[in-house]
Amino acid sequence: DLPPVAQQPRLTVIGTGYLGATHAVSMAVLGYEVLGVDVDPAKVDALVAGRVPFHEPGLPEKLAEALASGRLRFSSSMQEAAEFGDVHFVCVGTPQQRGSNAADLTYVDGAFRELASHITRRALVVGKSTVPVGTAARLAALVREVAPAGADVEVAWNPEFLREGYAVQDTLHPDRLVFGVESPWAEAQLRAAFRPVLDEGTPLVVADLPTSELVKVAANSFLATKISFINAMAEICEATGADVSLLASALSHDTRIGGRFLKPGLGFGGGCLPKDIRAFSARADELGVGQAVRFLDEVDAINLRRRQRTVDLVAELVDGDLAGKKVAALGAAFKPNSDDIRDAPALDVARMLRDAGAIVTVYDPEAMANAARVRPELRYAPSLTAAVVDADVVVLLTEWQQFRDADPEDLGALVHTRRIVDGRHALDADRYRAAGWEYRALGRPVAP
Ligand code: NAD
Repeated sequence: DLPPVAQQPRLTVIGTGYLGATHAVSMAVLGYEVLGVDVDPAKVDALVAGRVPFHEPGLPEKLAEALASGRLRFSSSMQEAAEFGDVHFVCVGTPQQRGSNAADLTYVDGAFRELASHITRRALVVGKSTVPVGTAARLAALVREVAPAGADVEVAWNPEFLREGYAVQDTLHPDRLVFGVESPWAEAQLRAAFRPVLDEGTPLVVADLPTSELVKVAANSFLATKISFINAMAEICEATGADVSLLASALSHDTRIGGRFLKPGLGFGGGCLPKDIRAFSARADELGVGQAVRFLDEVDAINLRRRQRTVDLVAELVDGDLAGKKVAALGAAFKPNSDDIRDAPALDVARMLRDAGAIVTVYDPEAMANAARVRPELRYAPSLTAAVVDADVVVLLTEWQQFRDADPEDLGALVHTRRIVDGRHALDADRYRAAGWEYRALGRPVAP
């Protein structure tokens, strides 16, 4: 028989943002006793009150279920976490450093240091944050240094692949689990902490610490490269009159290539892909192997060029002069089903249009409050219809279902001029053109 600890380890989740809140709730739903800890008292208060402090479909219901079960609690005390947990999951942020491409590890270092300094028993501290390769080994040494005498603390890594908008589903039923461990004991603890997920037949890769850190950044690099690949093809299409949406469709039928992440458009953003590929490039430079991932700098550059190209398309529709033109910007979140505006291409384009003199009115179904906080200089409308009233150009920047479902005739009745830039290849060009709209999309010819 395994000792009780390995049967049903008590879990803590340190950092209850997008990743941590989802992880804490999901693990409690799976039957574990979970304590979530965050330094931000507002976040802790919200979660205790049953309120998810961000938009994530399905998570509020699961939070209510988990709180009602009595298995999920939240606190701001690291000491309480250290006393409670057999397995600690560290889910704090690793944003891009100001003025550099490298990851800012202040929060991860701080969380590991503080947690370990309070641990007086046997425990496993598992990093889930996305970090530069080599961080876990450094943190393992740090933990050994700061843990009080008598404590027996080991470090492991368990990279997270959840997608915002599908976070609960991805946590309960992931494509795979990766455990980076330094001992059979750590592997056993992690197996115990994910037993219901593993029992479903979820593939598991057990690896060393650096490999497990690399899996995450390699996966994000691949996805970013796939998006920038098709957007590079869009640039070529623009120079030749070819149509990138037909090209992407034809490529996607090749099962070796596949259609996912091959959608041309405004490109990627958010709190992960951009900063992760930059941090990877910076880390490879530190390791003296920057050459190996130099293409990621180009992936980043291709991605950012799509934003200016979208602004140019809007300008082309108003004869090159954006000054004083009314532009309805549909979307602010970095992708649909999220209110996350970190490095959001949509908000960046709205800002660039305004800088070029346009009068920009933004509407997003969920991200308005977040957008208004970081871009107070933009105008915001309370609805899709309010946003497009009297517009000279409509530009679709985030492919919310609501925008896909909009009727071109109904929208046409509200705007000043029927002109639209489809920054996400999300609309039916034929329907818009049939309704008298001048329709433009990145990488597609002016007329069909
Ligand atoms: P986030 O900013 O939403 O959450 C981080 C949380 O950590 C915040 O609530 C913050 O208050 C808290 N925190 C900071 N320092 C702390 C400390 N010392 N003790 C306790 N709490 C502390 O970030 P996120 O989007 O959840 O991302 C977290 C990590 O997960 C990042 O490394 C990210 O790259 C990675 N990741 C995120 C996603 C995603 O979809 N958001 C997916 C996979 C991996």
